[in-house]
Formats: sequence, structure tokens, C-alpha cells
Amino acid sequence: MRHGNLFVISGPSGAGKGTLVKRMVDLVDDAWVSVSATTREPRRGEREGVHYFFMDEDGFSAMAEEGGFLEWARYAGHGYGTPRRSVEEHVAAGEQVVLEIDMQGAFQVREKMPSAKLVFVEPPSMEELERRLRKRGTEDEGAIAKRMAAAEVELSRKMEYDKQLVNDDLDEAVAELVAYVNEQAQS
Ligand code: 5GP
Repeated sequence: MRHGNLFVISGPSGAGKGTLVKRMVDLVDDAWVSVSATTREPRRGEREGVHYFFMDEDGFSAMAEEGGFLEWARYAGHGYGTPRRSVEEHVAAGEQVVLEIDMQGAFQVREKMPSAKLVFVEPPSMEELERRLRKRGTEDEGAIAKRMAAAEVELSRKMEYDKQLVNDDLDEAVAELVAYVNEQAQS
């Protein structure tokens, strides 16, 4: 019998978490991805309620104070948070709930829900990470520097996660993540 779980997918910005999660969700029928709130500006092509709930600072702070977030953190100068209620509902419904969040958020989730499974997605190297960030073309130099600095800190704590995945060959990383989710859903 499968049961509901909470998976936290974390790792440096540019490590390829988004693509990995999208591909995994297509292969796991009962997976559901939480949509976070953020105070950063939408990037080209990002849609409200699909990629993020875009909020202003006041709205974000109010929601944080009311306990509306399961976790929240500031990353590269912006607020990011996981809406609590929808996550709880989907876990209770027996689904494989996925949060794609930063490291600070991941450890907050572990405090609140010790059964959550923390997965660290690692880029093949720092050089490759920087190359991917530049290729994406969505951040200016200052933002890239902030994200590279954050990545160093994140990599230094990867062994505290329940599972480490190197995103070198995408197909292999997807297969490994799908296998992990299915294994946890049964255990
Ligand atoms: P980006 O601005 O590139 O979309 O996201 C920046 C970082 O914030 C990424 O590492 C992403 O995983 C993280 N992030 C996205 N949503 C949340 C959230 O709800 N909570 C936390 N703690 N981090 C988040």
C-alpha cells in the first residue's frame, strides 16, 4: 500500500531541480508539487499560481506572522515560503508531495515534519553550475554572484540530507529520483 509522504528537493539554484521535479512528476501518478509564494519579480514566462504566488513584502510578512507557511526563508534578498494548508491536505490524501525549496527551508521542514525526506540535488561541478546560471540568462552578474555564494554553503551541508543526487545525466537522475519516491511511498 502506498502512503502519503513529503519530499523536499533542495540544492543550488541552477542545479536543475525544476527540470528533474517536472520529469519525476510526469512518471509518478500520485505526485503533487507545492506552489511557493515569493516576493521576487516574475521571470519571463512565469505565471501566477503556476510557478509561484507572487506577493509583495507586506502580504508575505503578514502570511508568515499568521503561521500560513510551513516554512519560509530569505534567499538572495527575497522571501520564499511554502503555503502550509495545501501541503498538509495533499499528504493527508495519500499523495507524494514535493517541495522544491532552499536549504534553510529544507531543515525547517525537517524540524516540523521529521518524517519528511530531504533530497539534495547536486550539480556536476561549480563550473558547470555557473555555466548553467549564465546560460539561463535570467540573472544579472550580482544575482549570479549571490547564487554562487549560496551554492557553496549548500554544498557543504549535502550529507545532512536523506538522499544525494548528482544531476549530470538528466535521465539517470530522473530514474534515481523516481525509484527513491516509489520506494519511500511503499515503506
Ligand atoms: P528562484 O528565484 O530561482 O525561483 O528560487 C531561488 C531559490 O529559492 C531556489 O533554491 C528555490 O528552490 C528556493 N525556493 C523556492 N520556493 C521556496 C520556498 O517556498 N521556500 C524556500 N525556503 N525556498 C524556496
